[in-house]
Amino acid sequence: MKHRQPLLKHTQIIRLGRILDMLYTPKELAREIEVTPDTIYRSYLAAGLPHVRDRKGIWIHGPAFVSWAKLTISKHRRKRAPLPEGTAWCMRCNVPIAMEAPQVKYANRYIEIMQSHCPHCKCLVNRARAKQPAARPQ
Ligand SMILES: [Zn+2]
Repeated sequence: MKHRQPLLKHTQIIRLGRILDMLYTPKELAREIEVTPDTIYRSYLAAGLPHVRDRKGIWIHGPAFVSWAKLTISKHRRKRAPLPEGTAWCMRCNVPIAMEAPQVKYANRYIEIMQSHCPHCKCLVNRARAKQPAARPQ
């Protein structure tokens, strides 16, 4: 692709705050962030948006979408200081927190979504990182 537009516009980034910790269908997610379902399928899923597939179709985990969106957007912006390894941003406390015993909640070919709980407010925090190579037996 020669002319790569940012995948999310500023107004859509603001709408990320509406996303809940639940599974969305592409249609529901499209409605929340006010894009067409086609944008979800052709643009976001094609660009590596984490999702799961079952007999009923495609499901997108809300926080995984938000983490992915921010990671994607950050590619299009000037680099800002990244959070140190092992930390995440608590959306409720609005501070960086140390991730304690983070679990990989979702992984695709490119990224992993790490999840743990904020030590202050106990809410779930998510952090996306580049997929770690699987440990191979020697
Ligand atoms: Zn918190």
